[in-house]
Amino acid sequence: MQIPDIIVAIDGFSSTGKSTFARLIAKEYSLLYLDSGALYRAVTLHAMENGMIDGNGDIDEKKLHESLGREKISFGPEGTYIGDRCVEKEIRTMGVSSHVSPVSAIPFVREYVDSLLHEFGRRRRVVMDGRDIGTTVFPNAEVKIFMTATSEVRARRRFDEMVGKGQNPKMEDVIKNIEERDYIDSHREASPLSKAADAFVLDNSDMTLHEETVWFRGLLQGKFGILE
Ligand code: C5P
Repeated sequence: MQIPDIIVAIDGFSSTGKSTFARLIAKEYSLLYLDSGALYRAVTLHAMENGMIDGNGDIDEKKLHESLGREKISFGPEGTYIGDRCVEKEIRTMGVSSHVSPVSAIPFVREYVDSLLHEFGRRRRVVMDGRDIGTTVFPNAEVKIFMTATSEVRARRRFDEMVGKGQNPKMEDVIKNIEERDYIDSHREASPLSKAADAFVLDNSDMTLHEETVWFRGLLQGKFGILE
């Protein structure tokens, strides 16, 4: 099915399957997929590796601010990069997950990541997932989706994903991390996670991936008057 040049903004709580869904529709409709969370994770890894987060989780914001301009965080052939080092694996660890929400709540970090995302958005034909894409980053995105699922389903998905990557997580840690991130992400002052008024809600607690893509197809057909 041919669709116009659009930006698809996908937001929602942690582990609702945003990236899996976004990757799939990117492939199906020839869109560029951008994982905004990966950029926040890379900033967090950079802060951790350079001693900017202490044992209490306190962040040296001054140092982080100064260093951000010097560090090039980007997407490359193997995923997310800091400079020319691929950090795709490192940014998915529990350590990064436990610090990423406080780091993402810092306004200059959001400005930095937003500027990277806007660069990519200029190309159009993009699907981007995150927490504030439809509300703040691309408020004029043609299609906005807000994904949600029960917390049990989300914890199980995240747990299975980590095991699949060779990690050895504890279920209670996974649940705690998801709950903490949801709380911080939706209560922070700078562009908190919330549903855009014109976003379509996709609750995939009881849906297969195939059903999600059928739902999306129907949404596109309705929105753009495509009859095939
Ligand atoms: O999507 P993912 O779970 O990898 O994102 C990691 C974290 O990055 C989120 O919990 C949130 O704190 C932050 N984030 C954000 N805004 C976005 C994307 C992610 O604050 N647009």
